[in-house]
Amino acid sequence: NSLSASEKGTLFEPKKVKFIQLIFVDINGVPKGMEVPIGRYDEAIEDGIAFDGSSIPGFEGIEDSDLIFKADPSAYAEIPWEGISRVYGYIYKGRKPYPADPRGVLRGALEELEKAGFRAYIGPEPEFYLFKKNGSWELQIPDSGGYFDLVTLDRARELKREIALHMPALGLVPEVLHHEVGKAQHEIDFRYDEALRTADNIVSFKYIVKAISEMHGLYATFMPKPLYGFPGNGMHLHISLWKDGENAFIGDEGLSETALYFVGGILAHAKALTAVTNPTVNSYKRLVPGYEAPVYISWGYRNRSALIRVPAFWGNGARIEYRCPDPSANPYLAFAAILMAGLDGIRRKIEPDAYVEENVYEMGDSKRKSLGIDTLPESLGEALEELKKDGVVREALGGAYRNFIAYKEREWEGYLEYLGAKGLPEDTKKVTEWELERYFHV
Ligand code: GLN
Ligand code: MG
Ligand code: MG
Ligand code: MG
Repeated sequence: NSLSASEKGTLFEPKKVKFIQLIFVDINGVPKGMEVPIGRYDEAIEDGIAFDGSSIPGFEGIEDSDLIFKADPSAYAEIPWEGISRVYGYIYKGRKPYPADPRGVLRGALEELEKAGFRAYIGPEPEFYLFKKNGSWELQIPDSGGYFDLVTLDRARELKREIALHMPALGLVPEVLHHEVGKAQHEIDFRYDEALRTADNIVSFKYIVKAISEMHGLYATFMPKPLYGFPGNGMHLHISLWKDGENAFIGDEGLSETALYFVGGILAHAKALTAVTNPTVNSYKRLVPGYEAPVYISWGYRNRSALIRVPAFWGNGARIEYRCPDPSANPYLAFAAILMAGLDGIRRKIEPDAYVEENVYEMGDSKRKSLGIDTLPESLGEALEELKKDGVVREALGGAYRNFIAYKEREWEGYLEYLGAKGLPEDTKKVTEWELERYFHV
């Protein structure tokens, strides 16, 4: 018909919903699920629906893989353009929560936080590239815009609007749409929410972006560093803790003591956290100097070269911005790990050192050393070693820890084998075909 793409985005043919997708995520944060006739929804809430989890990445082996999906009715939505509905849920094994279920792991961490009197609110800034795939991994870039470019350099402006118009149907409130620094790189921010809801929203958001892009013959990728020499895709997280209905990060001048200890906890566990917030081989191709991605473990007010930045918003907007995470992270596991690291800081009253307002990239090594500024892990292999040493972050992953480490170690070994077979050096920051094949669709 003659409607423009963005007009179409507002006009859904009202279809009667006949099926519902029951969605959970695997260890990578990739949504998986089955579709059942809508008539089984009550059963999915009350008794759950059984499934075979043997081939789900990071779930158990074939010996014992009978799992049950139980719908969480608070995470129900209709997808008008597909004419179906979807619901997120929890996984059980028999009557007990399945320990490696990422959503269950986050629920456990939030209960722990609640015991200390806190609720966590998180707002993400997911970045992505739009590519035109031409049948090979040679990727074509559809525009030549840069940061905040508008017409006519932003050739994806209509597409972004269309994506934003589709978001409310799945419960997301779009807030800002803009071109990012990279050619064909974009960002759409949506309203912060309680941590579990935001993790669900990230899963929904990536689905919407990919689905709408594909309708236009474009591929959206959230892989952390699709192109060597171009900016990577980050997913900065804005975090605040609330107590008794008030933002516990509000201080008299700057952040509260609670917030500072929270920052102290994150900095103390930063190395192990990267294994969870930056969980792919490709993640470490992003964490290099020159592209506004963090490399050093430091914090500061406003400082965008720091790992943790404190934005200049006070009152209820008081929060910290954690700049390390990228969109290849499993949001449930990443949030659980970050919040437990921060809670550890609050419990143990860890003062945050490594405070800087200068550009850390431009400092010499000796200056950084004298300020106590350490460096983030430089590879997935290194990050996994850090995770193994960090009891707090390990525990935050609960029953998913063993599956996570086993799965990720295989991933790292697979990459090293690939490099070995190609005769490539291990420390290269170039993006390989192995990564494109494995991560383009994360
Ligand atoms: N793309 C940058 C990153 O990798 C962030 C750029 C920005 O949002 N200022 O984190
Ligand atoms: Mg932003
Ligand atoms: Mg950005
Ligand atoms: Mg930001």
